[in-house]
Amino acid sequence: MNATIRAAAALLLTLLLAACSGDEPPAPLTAGPEHRVGTGSDPHSFAEYEKVRIRHLSLDLDADMSARILTGHVVLELDRVEPGFQRLVLDSRDLNIRDVNAIRPDGEYLPVSWRFGADHGHLGRPLVIVLPAGIEQLRIDYTTSPEAFGLQWLDGEQTSSGRPFMFSQSQPHYARTWVPLQDTPAVRYTFDATVRGPRELMVVMGAAGNEFERNDTGEYRFEMPEPIPSYLMAIAIGDLVFAETGPRTGIYAEPPWIEAAAGEFDVLEEMVEIGENLYGEYRWGRYDLLVLPPSFPFGGMENPRLSYITPTIIAGDGSLLALVAHELAHSWSGNLVTNAAWRDLWLNEGFTVHFEARIMEELYGQEVRDQLAKLSWDGLMDTLDAIDARDRQLVRDLSDRDPEQAFMRVPYDMGRFFIDWIEHRVGRDVFDEFLRGYFDHFAFQSITSEDFRAYLEQHLVVPNRGRLTMAEVDQWLYEPGMPEIAFEIRPESDAFVAVDDWRERWQSGEVDLDDLPADAWSVYQWLHFLSGLEGRLDAETMEAMDERFDLVAQQNHEILFLWLLRSIEAEYAPGIERLETFLLEVGRNKFTRPLYAALAESAWGRDWGIEVYERARPGYHPLTRQASERALGL
Ligand SMILES: [Zn+2]
Repeated sequence: MNATIRAAAALLLTLLLAACSGDEPPAPLTAGPEHRVGTGSDPHSFAEYEKVRIRHLSLDLDADMSARILTGHVVLELDRVEPGFQRLVLDSRDLNIRDVNAIRPDGEYLPVSWRFGADHGHLGRPLVIVLPAGIEQLRIDYTTSPEAFGLQWLDGEQTSSGRPFMFSQSQPHYARTWVPLQDTPAVRYTFDATVRGPRELMVVMGAAGNEFERNDTGEYRFEMPEPIPSYLMAIAIGDLVFAETGPRTGIYAEPPWIEAAAGEFDVLEEMVEIGENLYGEYRWGRYDLLVLPPSFPFGGMENPRLSYITPTIIAGDGSLLALVAHELAHSWSGNLVTNAAWRDLWLNEGFTVHFEARIMEELYGQEVRDQLAKLSWDGLMDTLDAIDARDRQLVRDLSDRDPEQAFMRVPYDMGRFFIDWIEHRVGRDVFDEFLRGYFDHFAFQSITSEDFRAYLEQHLVVPNRGRLTMAEVDQWLYEPGMPEIAFEIRPESDAFVAVDDWRERWQSGEVDLDDLPADAWSVYQWLHFLSGLEGRLDAETMEAMDERFDLVAQQNHEILFLWLLRSIEAEYAPGIERLETFLLEVGRNKFTRPLYAALAESAWGRDWGIEVYERARPGYHPLTRQASERALGL
């Protein structure tokens, strides 16, 4: 058969198969302890990656800032794991596919048939492509939608520089809204990219090749030599400048932010060194931060080589640097060793929160670590009280849910205390050695909780018989809520006990506001003080507190956030005035969602909240819009 006939035959076969399967996504395999590395099945991807998988992709894109689209093509290089398997199913959502061609080994293009499967909402549509025998390269020409969920486009009026800005957020499953690919953390690939934007802006990516200055052509080239999963694909375009913080670290930000950001994050190089001392070589070349506009929906995103960071942690005193430590820590836990599906998210986040605490301890000492741990423990306990039993465990069945729902406190904080507990049982030296071995063993692989469990048993539980058991480990992994044994490591902080004491004496009228030694309190003590206040404060008390502490003018967004929540409760006018400007500027979900929810629940605030939301909406990321609307009951 010649190539054309083979392609036609393959198309017919594919259409028959597709007709039989009724466009349903491939049935998920059952996950279990017998799972091998890299073959975990992901219910949130249509890709049949056990049969054919992407090895490398080359992007060539033009960015149109006013039309809000990326247009161009991607060339996929494939590993034909099952050489006889004659189709490739990619994930896609809201993509306009113009053309698909196979590239023959001699470089000739061969048009191939393709079609979209049915629309599955947030999962998008499978893009089914006929894959002729012997073909290992495909070129797909496409354009993104202005509504692409994984991209946020901002006009000049919505940025600090006055120039347009675009950034991606691919985690958990939004890469498919800007590149047709196998959008699952189970598949890793290397990539290169050429991207053209307006000459007055600069393009950066989570990759090697970021320039330190805007060039004159508007064209930028990148290369990612380490294999990454799709959720770590990252691009941004804006009026960016660079400030060096060390030989392999630096900050990208819009000009108005750069000085404050470079000052706030000047410990970046030291943090990388601390990370290497703890868990081995940093394997990604440079580590830079990109400070995004305040509408960025998250605190940070661990895009490799270039983590994205919200400007809301620029507090002027470095007090919110735990978030930078967190994103950096992902260079080992998450980016180097990756959860194979979102049910295993705790593997990324639990290790990372543990690691973040270790970095903060190295930088600022045990007391700061204890204060942060206590905040994390108290927040987790509140969360566990408020959520369904099925969400109270580390390994969760998310097969019928939006993977967005994986992102809650449990995989982060309960995951962290699980890791803390293992360290507590075997001792720090033994545990650190184990972790270094773990990162080496699974480097650049995507693994399941069961892969981790088997490795832990072999390399830590068996050699340390009597210190911990697999039954205890399974309690942590598979049973809802914090196990009894967690209380062995319940964090305590003398500094917080002192705050509790002062708070109680003040609230009972024993001492005055002026007596509180609050000027000497750490940011974390302040957070503990505010979140522990009993009952509802009245507007008069809040006014008195503002006179003494000026909380409404706080530069620290974590403290300010708690104060704004209290302001809603108390219907406290100066706080509500600040809340309005805050909601119009900041799109970080951690803050906006609870604030809108509190407004919706308050006796007075729902209509006001909706009115503010309508004005803020154009500047919000699609994720923030979605969460805010849910919070407001829209
Ligand atoms: Zn994280």
